Amino acid sequence: MAMGELSIEGLRALVRDVPDFPKPGIMFKDITPLIGSADGLASCVARLAALTPAGVEAVVAIESRGFLFGAPLALRLGLPVIPVRKPGKLPYHKRRVEYALEYGTDALEMHADALAQHKKVIIVDDVLATGGTAAATARLCRDAGGEVAAFAFVIELGFLGGRPKLGTTPVVSVLTY
Ligand code: AMP
Repeated sequence: MAMGELSIEGLRALVRDVPDFPKPGIMFKDITPLIGSADGLASCVARLAALTPAGVEAVVAIESRGFLFGAPLALRLGLPVIPVRKPGKLPYHKRRVEYALEYGTDALEMHADALAQHKKVIIVDDVLATGGTAAATARLCRDAGGEVAAFAFVIELGFLGGRPKLGTTPVVSVLTY
């Protein structure tokens, strides 16, 4: 381990559990202590980079905490970043995907030309919970002609069963709960 590089236990200690946020019964995994530590952020991004398959051409980062890890990961790998955003944020021609929530639906958008030059992507977010957000992002990428080489998360909440929803595409995560 390089100087300043944190162990898995060290990283785990930087994730704060906040009960009943944003609503009762949810145990929120707060990554602000992790990104609030220079060693924590660097170690986390280094581990994500080590888990990224060869041949990936772009990092697709999911709004908004996915941006915090996706952009530094891309920088480290020498790759471009493609943002996937909540509706109404992107300024140019867009593709949109809708997905089911516990109650109602939500949507995500990506610029229509985002994958014109880069087809093989890794999708990055902070937390894999039920998998709905990541699965919808993969649909957006595939509809645009992209190939999803892997999904990468800082935290995987294994007990919520998100991984099987992502099919046969490799799923990597730094910390699992
Ligand atoms: P899901 O679509 O259920 O996999 O939810 C994933 C999205 O919701 C991610 O963008 C996470 O940032 C956020 N999320 C869901 N559950 C949690 C949690 N317990 N702690 C922190 N973030 C969460």
